[in-house]
Amino acid sequence: MEVDNKFVALKEYVHGQPSESNFEVKTAPLALTLKKGSNQIIVKNFYVSIDPYQINRIKAYSSSHKASGFSTQIGLGERVDAFGVGSVVASVNEEFKEGDLVAGLLNWEEYTVVQPRTILNKITDEFALSYHVGVLGPSGLAAYAGFYEVCKPKNGNTVFVSAASGSVGNLVGQFAKLSGCYVVGCAGNKNKVDLLKEKLGFDEAFNYKEEPDFKLALKRYFPDGIDIYFDNVGGEMLEAAIVNMKPFGRVALCGVISEYTSAGPRAAPNMLDVIYKRINIKGFLAYDYLHIYNEFISTTQDHLRHDRLQVLEDISQGIESVPTAFSGLFRGDNVGKKSVKIGNG
Ligand code: NAP
Repeated sequence: MEVDNKFVALKEYVHGQPSESNFEVKTAPLALTLKKGSNQIIVKNFYVSIDPYQINRIKAYSSSHKASGFSTQIGLGERVDAFGVGSVVASVNEEFKEGDLVAGLLNWEEYTVVQPRTILNKITDEFALSYHVGVLGPSGLAAYAGFYEVCKPKNGNTVFVSAASGSVGNLVGQFAKLSGCYVVGCAGNKNKVDLLKEKLGFDEAFNYKEEPDFKLALKRYFPDGIDIYFDNVGGEMLEAAIVNMKPFGRVALCGVISEYTSAGPRAAPNMLDVIYKRINIKGFLAYDYLHIYNEFISTTQDHLRHDRLQVLEDISQGIESVPTAFSGLFRGDNVGKKSVKIGNG
């Protein structure tokens, strides 16, 4: 059997803000049959993840291209790979059979031919399938590992989270509340700020776009200082947080989205503060923590079963909506995990 497979290809490298015109949606025939011995499988995709880090992969130049196997450049005309969820429709790999539900590295497309040794896990339908690109996927692992392993929280710690209504940020704030911390988040509009306080239980939240001076804003919310800063944005907010850190504070550098779309100055935290306050600043990737994957999944699933975690999802419909969904991340359009539903599960 053959299908028409719609996919998103890179049309132009991104300079500055991404837009829909950087991509094109194309169609190519795909035979749903595989050569014996290839160990490949074909997945019909139901949800694909839309992630900020992808912008660095679709630039003409980024220092990240050579830094890690997860951040290599995607060439013009190539398909954009992304985490996703789907169902196996053909397999010559003995680990997977037709009908298996899977989550792992797929592409922004309707069907993906998955090569052997690609990250791909079997999943069940106990939870909404979309959860496997968000709270039970890489965003969840980034939040869980970044918060527990990098920030090492203690009961009563003061915690600041940026991009707090986003996919990673909202979970960090909720994990922090579950750990008995005082939590403040910042986000880019009033609705997001209200949601953090009223739905997710943050102690305080503020709209950073209305703050003329981030250092003073953080001083207001943390008069005695910050124990933990979970950084999703970098730039001026990182500098302001460092000024307000307590001695022996911990900073988890998860992402620096404010620097992804600008070739301008990078965050230049006061290094004297870092040294004399003995602040621990650590960059990390979720994939560094696959050794705690089982713990992350069982703890998070337990929270979900007992309604201890709220799930924030923002799902667009149809493969054609991928370019807009992606560009929207950098305009702050999304609330919670951004994904695109491209098939029926
Ligand atoms: P997200 O927060 O769901 O979406 C992006 C959000 O960032 C937007 O909604 C917007 O919210 C905010 N934003 C956009 N441009 C901004 C700017 N110039 N300044 C400040 N905020 C801006 O995305 P996510 O998937 O959770 O990712 C959050 C961060 O974590 C990103 O930096 C990402 O690269 C990183 N990340 C790292 C790992 C890892 O393994 N280290 C894994 C996943 C994600 P506002 O309306 O609040 O501005």
